Amino acid sequence: MIDVDEIRERRAAVLGRMAAAAERSGRPAEAVTLIAVTKTWPAELVIAAHAAGLRHVGENRPEELAAKRPIVEAALGAECGLVWHLIGPVQSRKADLAATHADVFHALERDKIARRLAAARPNGRPLPCFIEVNVSGEAEKHGLAVARWETDATQVANLRKMISDTAAQPGLPVVGLMTMAPWDAPPEVIRAVFRRTRALAEQVTDLLPQPGGPRLSMGMTDDFEIAIEEGATHVRVGRALFGERGL
Ligand SMILES: *Cc1c(COP(=O)(O)O)cnc(C)c1O
Repeated sequence: MIDVDEIRERRAAVLGRMAAAAERSGRPAEAVTLIAVTKTWPAELVIAAHAAGLRHVGENRPEELAAKRPIVEAALGAECGLVWHLIGPVQSRKADLAATHADVFHALERDKIARRLAAARPNGRPLPCFIEVNVSGEAEKHGLAVARWETDATQVANLRKMISDTAAQPGLPVVGLMTMAPWDAPPEVIRAVFRRTRALAEQVTDLLPQPGGPRLSMGMTDDFEIAIEEGATHVRVGRALFGERGL
């Protein structure tokens, strides 16, 4: 496992690349949040990431989040300033774990899950959500089907309904859209997916009225610069910070 100094260097390099991409999109570096994806790594890596200055962490499985967060908080204290993002899909039987342990949820795609999350959220503490959208249309991708949204009005209508139904639940504000680009596609194909996600978000801004406009969670190790150039406000980066996950 890599150490604090190496994470600090890698963090600085990623932040530098992010700032340059933000500048190319006409935005300040602070407009984009770096979420350090710590999935598959032990709690010790999250503690090292915190020491290296990272404050947003991403986990893709509720059970892994629920196991790791208490260990990290036992070591650093609950007020250590870490924000825990759940970036992967949640099945109904895991909704309680997600509602208890996540601070932000990036992969909402079904109303049933929204209802379960709202019901299980402790003390009505808000859980900001991104709706995950499948813009590329790949069968194996999660997210609401919107691959033909420009020509199929029902796809936009479905998204609008998903946003309103979620926002009608207590404590589940919808802040924006999340998407994943195809693996191994040429850069122009990846860019088109991000650009179309942003254009789709513009179709629903009236339902996402927070200051600064809809948030866009898009971009990972291999494509975060393209995502930022196309308007990402949150990038989810694992390997560029911590190296290859040993699976
Ligand atoms: C694993 C994962 C990431 C990070 O992937 P890297 O290629 O390691 O940057 C981002 N988003 C989601 C949803 C993931 O599951």
